[in-house]
Amino acid sequence: MKASAIYCVNMVDCIFCKIIRGELASTKVYEDADVLGFLDIKPINPGHTLVIPKQHYVNIHDMPDSLVAKVAVTAKKVADAILKIGAKGVNIGMNNGAYAGQIVFHAHVHVMPRYGNDSFSHWVGKEYDGNEREEVATKIRKQLNLPT
Ligand code: 5GP
Ligand code: ZN
Repeated sequence: MKASAIYCVNMVDCIFCKIIRGELASTKVYEDADVLGFLDIKPINPGHTLVIPKQHYVNIHDMPDSLVAKVAVTAKKVADAILKIGAKGVNIGMNNGAYAGQIVFHAHVHVMPRYGNDSFSHWVGKEYDGNEREEVATKIRKQLNLPT
């Protein structure tokens, strides 16, 4: 069992699985065999869409790459549509794990319309200390099997 699975509710109780099965109401904007897009119940702005795999995965770490690709392409399509109906920009984001702000433990990508007059703001960046930048980059490259 993967570490992230400890946060997993079962598919019977999962609210996004209930939406997929039609047991909970949702406002759908996209659907195909593998992926569903529906409006977030508490949007940053009107049109804020959640793009999810129809199969239950906890977050991106559990998902097969092919499904990650399908969800990402769908998020782009929804973002294109959101721009066409008047948004000035679109944030696309995914919270993976409780420490990253994930509340619903069925993988989902947020597609968030932006208009310049909302309270959603950029994070405050930190400064690196000493060798910290090179040290963390080396650790990541090692995990990715790239020369350190
Ligand atoms: P996260 O897990 O990435 O923090 O966000 C979960 C998102 O799901 C939130 O933005 C929340 O508003 C949305 N959400 C939670 N429950 C429901 C629901 O029953 N229906 C819909 N459409 N959205 C939901
Ligand atoms: Zn689910």
